This record gives sequence, C-alpha cells and structure tokens, in this order.
Amino acid sequence: MSAAERRAIAKGGLSQFRIRRGRVEQRIVERELHPSNATMSAYIPMDTRTPQQRRRIMQAVKSRDTKPEMIVRRCLHAMGYRYRLHRKDLPGRPDIVFGSRRKAIFVHGCFWHRHDCAKGRLPKSRLNYWKPKLDENAIRDKTRLEELDELGWQTLVIWQCELDDMEALAARLQDFVGER
Ligand SMILES: [Zn+2]
Repeated sequence: MSAAERRAIAKGGLSQFRIRRGRVEQRIVERELHPSNATMSAYIPMDTRTPQQRRRIMQAVKSRDTKPEMIVRRCLHAMGYRYRLHRKDLPGRPDIVFGSRRKAIFVHGCFWHRHDCAKGRLPKSRLNYWKPKLDENAIRDKTRLEELDELGWQTLVIWQCELDDMEALAARLQDFVGER
C-alpha cells in the first residue's frame, strides 16, 4: 500500500479500508452466507500476512459459495493447510480432518445443531416436531465428540454464526490446528 493510499484511507476516502491501532485493514463483504441472505462484512488486517497469503485469503472468502463448511475449508486452504474431508471411519464423519495431527473440525449450522445464539432459536411453529428432532441432533453431536476424545482426537466446532468475523475465524483455526 502506498503512502498516498494510506493518507486517503486516513481521510476516509477509501471506504473499503480502515486504519485501526495503526494497522491498515481491508473490508471484505460476503453475501448470502446466511439463510437470511444478510450481507456480512469483516475487516482483515492488510499488513500481518504476506501479499500472496492476503490475496489467497481474499479470493477464498470472496467466493459466492454459501455453505459454511466451504467458507472454513477455503479459509484453511488459503492459510496453507491441507486436510481430508468427511472421514467415514471416524465417529460423526468430521467435516475436516488433519489425520497426522489427530485433529478434527466440525462446521455446524446453528439451527440444526441447536447453538445457543440468535440463529439457533427454536422455531415458533410445530415445536412438538422440531424440538425432539433438534435436541436429538445436539445429543448426537455431544456423543460423537466424546467418542473422538476417547480415541485420542482433538476436536473443534465452528458455528455458522462465527463466520461473521473472518479474522477471528482465521486466528481460531490457526490456534487449533497448529503450525503448518
Ligand atoms: Zn450460532
């Protein structure tokens, strides 16, 4: 980024950027990540990664694919991680698997897996139908995580609502998976 661009940002002239704590951040916008078709955006620091990494992450999250799991996969891929998908030989067929590290990631929709958040609220109609069904999903999820734990696997659950903040997501993924 040139000095002129930095000055333009400081004056508010380039709306897709901002300066926070002295660091330049670029705004990314992702539509249709949610069933509600809400538009979401997040700021990602411009100067903590190499230009090449930055470009890859930006391309990854700008994708039009709407599946939460896909967002997480693209984010991991852009950060340089390689993984396997849906290993059938493991409890719960984890979405993303790092075999040699014995680590597995599940990406859960808040509604279907009963997350304690706004998107995870039970529907108002046909509660007799939905509640047992969704409760069962949540119980099954918990059992699967326990089974994986007993087999010596570490697990991470990423919730759909956590995809609002790509920067935080990238940091969490890196913390969990470890060094490349
Ligand atoms: Zn949620």
